[in-house]
Amino acid sequence: MKKDLAPKPIETKFLPKDVKCPVCGAVCEKVNYAYSSGIIIDRCPSGCGVWLDEGELEKIQAFVEIWDHKAREVALQKGIDLESYRRDMEKYKRGILDTIFGLLFGGHKFI
Ligand SMILES: [Zn+2]
Repeated sequence: MKKDLAPKPIETKFLPKDVKCPVCGAVCEKVNYAYSSGIIIDRCPSGCGVWLDEGELEKIQAFVEIWDHKAREVALQKGIDLESYRRDMEKYKRGILDTIFGLLFGGHKFI
């Protein structure tokens, strides 16, 4: 099961030509959306954003809907309150970001 979730390497021979960022002109990196979706999107290495080709937004939407449906099925089978779990994960992620920013900018002190 875990093996299915592992990131799959991108086969570069099937990729379209390099895409240049429309903001800064840098050649975008090819990224497998959600690490293993098989939907290859273009991301600016300078941080301008992510650029989608025609039809990719719809593919991503379908991918997210399928995963959301699967998550609900698993949560139901295991008796997990999915909404509560998601709220807890958001708090956890915010906590990690607060810690990182604190370390970088001195917002937290460790004794
Ligand atoms: Zn850019």
